[in-house]
Amino acid sequence: MSKTIALIVAAGRGHRLGGSLPKQYLPLAGQPVLRHTAMRFLAHPGIEAVRVVIHPDDRDLYNQAVGDLGLGEPIAGGVTRQDSVRLGLEAVSADAPDLVLIQDAARPFTNPMTIDAVLAALKDHPGAIPALPVADTLKRADGSRIAATVPRDGLYRAQTPQGFRFADILAAHRALTGHELTDDASLLEAAGRTVALVPGSEGNFKITTSEDMMRAENLMGATFETRSASGFDVHRFAEGGDHVMLCGIPVPHDSGLEGHSDADVGLHALTDALLGCIAAGDIGQHFPPTDPHWKGASSDRFLAHAAGLVMAKGGHIVHVDVTLICERPKIGPHRKAMTARIAEILSLSADRVSVKATTTEQLGFTGRREGIAAQAMATVELPRI
Ligand code: MG
Repeated sequence: MSKTIALIVAAGRGHRLGGSLPKQYLPLAGQPVLRHTAMRFLAHPGIEAVRVVIHPDDRDLYNQAVGDLGLGEPIAGGVTRQDSVRLGLEAVSADAPDLVLIQDAARPFTNPMTIDAVLAALKDHPGAIPALPVADTLKRADGSRIAATVPRDGLYRAQTPQGFRFADILAAHRALTGHELTDDASLLEAAGRTVALVPGSEGNFKITTSEDMMRAENLMGATFETRSASGFDVHRFAEGGDHVMLCGIPVPHDSGLEGHSDADVGLHALTDALLGCIAAGDIGQHFPPTDPHWKGASSDRFLAHAAGLVMAKGGHIVHVDVTLICERPKIGPHRKAMTARIAEILSLSADRVSVKATTTEQLGFTGRREGIAAQAMATVELPRI
C-alpha cells in the first residue's frame, strides 16, 4: 500500500470576494472554506496525512480554521502558487510519501469518487487530474468583441486534486522554478511525462466569485435570512474642479464635489446601506472624516470594506440599488459604466446592480444645483444562526 499525502494550497491572497479575508478562510455554512476542504481529505481512507500550505500572515486564521484537526504544522508558502506548491512538496518530502494529491483550498466539494479515480490512475501514470469536457462554445476576445471561435474538441477544464507520484512532481517543480503555472499537471507535461485525465464533477467547483459562494451555501443547505437596509448621502458642489466621482466613475462636470474622500456620494450611500444590513454602524464610524488616512481616498475601498464585512459574516449580497438625485450632470450616459463598476467592486453580476437617477424638478438644494444627493438600498442574505 503506497503512502499518500494530501497537500492543500491555501496561500493565496484572493480578495476578489471583497474585504480583507482570503476566500479560503471565509465562512461557508458557519465554518471556514479551508476546514470543509481539509475534512474531505481527512475522511478519505486512502490518505495518510493532510498538510496545508499557507501565507505566513495567516497563521492565526489557520489555527482558527483547522487548528484542532491534528494536521500538523502549516507550511509557509511563497509568492506564486507554483512557489507555494514547491515549498509544500519540499516540506513533506521528509515523510517520504509515494503519492501526493495537490488540492485547491477553495474547492470544498471534492467527492471521494474523484479522489479514488485520481489515485487509481496513478497506478499506470505518473500524474492524473480530474477534468470536465468544455460544453460551452469558446470565443477568443479582442477587448469586448469576438476575435475568433475556438474549436472546443478535446478541450477540458482542469480541476483538483491533481495526483502525482511524489518523486516525479517534486523533480518537475525543482526543474522548473520561477514560472507562474496555474496548475501542477503543467509541470509534469513540461517534463514530457504523461498526465491522465479522469472524470471530474460539476460539484467540484472552485469558489472564486460571490455567486460561487452563494452556490456553495445552497449546496451546504445553509438557511438564510434576508435583510435590507437603506443609505443616504449628500455632497456639496465645490468651487472649481472639472468632474465628479459618481458610483466609481469620473463624470465630467463644471465643478467637483466637496468631501474628505473623493466625495462619491453614490458609493457612500451604498456603503451605508450594506453596513445597515449587518447593523454595523455607518461609514463615518469605519472611515472617520477626521482621519487624514482617508483624505482623497477612492470610495471603492469603503464599499469593498462593507462587502467584506458581509462576507465575513457568511453572508452574500443579493441586490443593490442606487438613486442619484441631481439636475446636472446627466447620469444616463454613464449609467452602464456605473453599474459595471459597482458590480466589479462587489464581485456581483451586473443584473444584481441597479443605478437610477432623478431630478427634483429644480426644487430644493439639488434643484438649485448646490449639491448631489444619493440614496441606496441593499439586500443581503445572512446565515440564520
Ligand atoms: Mg459622503
